[in-house]
Parts: sequence; C-alpha cells; structure tokens
Amino acid sequence: MSGLLGAAEIREIASRIGVNPTKKLGQNFVVDANTCRRIVKSADVHEGDIALEIGPGLGSLTLALLEVAQEVIVIEIDERLAAELPHTVQRHEFDTHRLTVVTQDAMVVDSLPLAPTVLVANLPYNISVPVLLRYMEKFPTLRSGVVMVQSEVADRLVASPGSKNYGSPSVKATWWADMSSAGTVGRSIFWPVPNVDSSLVRFVRHEAAGDESLRLATFMVIDAAFAQRRKMLRGALSELFGGSAAASDAILAAGVDPTSRGEALLLPDFIKIATQLSR
Ligand code: SAM
Repeated sequence: MSGLLGAAEIREIASRIGVNPTKKLGQNFVVDANTCRRIVKSADVHEGDIALEIGPGLGSLTLALLEVAQEVIVIEIDERLAAELPHTVQRHEFDTHRLTVVTQDAMVVDSLPLAPTVLVANLPYNISVPVLLRYMEKFPTLRSGVVMVQSEVADRLVASPGSKNYGSPSVKATWWADMSSAGTVGRSIFWPVPNVDSSLVRFVRHEAAGDESLRLATFMVIDAAFAQRRKMLRGALSELFGGSAAASDAILAAGVDPTSRGEALLLPDFIKIATQLSR
C-alpha cells in the first residue's frame, strides 16, 4: 500500500494495537495527508536530510518525512506506538532501514545514533517548549525545523519585545535560532479533535550567541527578569546580584536602563547583563 496514512487507517491501527489516545501524552494524531506534506514542505526537508521527529504517534508525519528525507529518526515514549511504526512503514512500501525508532522519553535523550539535520514534530502540548529548547541545545547539527504546537505557545515562541506574549521562551529560543510563524492548522485534521488551536513555528539556526557558561548565566538573568515581569529590572534582578543597588549598577554598566522591564529587552541586552554577573 503506497501513499500516506488516512483517517480510517489511523483508527484501524489504534484499535488493533489497543491505543486509546490520552491527553496525558498529548495524543492528537494528524489524520490528513495534505497537512503532513505541507508541514514537511515548510520545514524545507531535502533529499539528503536526516530528519528527527519527536512523538511520531501512528506515523502520519513519519511517512511524509520518508517521502523526502534520506533517514528518519523518531523518538516515541509510548511503547505500543513505537513498536507498531516499522510495520506501518513497511506496509506503506517505504524502506524500513531508513527508519530508526528510539523508544524513550524525549526529555531524557542526550544522544542519537545519527546526527539529525532537520527537526519536524507535532509536539505533545504539555512539553512542547522544553522539548524544542532541549533539542536546539543538545543537537547543534539541527540546522532548521518546523514544530506544530498549541497556538498560544506558538505566539510566545515568535513574540517580539513589548508584546504581551513575549517572555522567557521567546528570548531563550533566539539564543540558537531565528524563530518565525509558519501558519495555523485547523482542529478538524486531528483525531481526537483537540479543544485548542494549533500553529506551526519554524526555526533556522544561527551561530550561538556565546559559549555554554555565558548561555547559562544569560538564561539565569532571563528567568529572573520574567519571574517577576511586572517589576523593574533592578528589582527583578536584585537577588541575583545581591541587592538592588548592585543590580542597578550592573544593569547600567551593561548599557541597559535599570527601570526598564524584561519584556522590553532583546537577547543581546540580557547577554550584556549576564556578562556583568560573571565579573
Ligand atoms: N506525530 C504524530 C501525528 O502528528 O499524528 C503524533 C503527535 S501527538 C500530538 C504527540 C506524540 O508524542 C504522541 O505519539 C505521544 O505518545 C508522544 N509523546 C508524548 N510525550 C512524549 C515524550 N515525553 N517523549 C516522546 N514522545 C512523547
């Protein structure tokens, strides 16, 4: 059987292997082949790519990736889904040797058998931001990717300073990559139909803004600034710098206004403040 998965087959596989989609694992499966192809296209997957998919589920996106990429690595926590995937791939006449299944929690994976070049995933909603940041951090060979997330999360990932959605995930993501919106996805293409809207977020890696110790210091400043986002920076960062006067001096030395708020700052401002922290 060639082609991608359709709604009827998805339900048939799920019922045959005894999978009743759970909210806990964010199991909303894409039942529309055109959407899968659209996602793969917007991720700009090439013939020689080693694609990484987190949470392949029943394989809707996986098959669309196998149409284009050279190799596909998937990480799936649900053992029943992970075990069934090679059979689905074979039934759809793709070469199973091009598929590597890692049956694990994506939040604990530190290494992979192949170096992935592109990330494509319909992420489980409850862990989408940490998963995305983790993979950008741990797998520098990922040059770009597209992830499908809850629209509210997508708005936060692509937000600019001054917007109400701008926060710690927006700034942290820009340490590694340029983030942009790649459109929305209707609810009806999922089974079961979720009660939230979904959107696509695209990232394109750029050179990291500094070494690991600078990143850790910068992320501490970002976390502190947004933990109390209504506070002025000199107040929000006072604990980190050992007092409000010391925080004020450091922020000034970084060329930033101590009475401004985290929501007004871009990554380079946070980096300059973090540099003062290590002095
Ligand atoms: N990619 C499939 C699709 O688009 O139809 C399924 C997407 S579904 C939103 C999320 C998938 O991630 C499920 O298959 C779920 O079992 C899996 N998942 C949930 N938490 C996970 C984790 N911590 N690590 C790996 N996979 C996880």
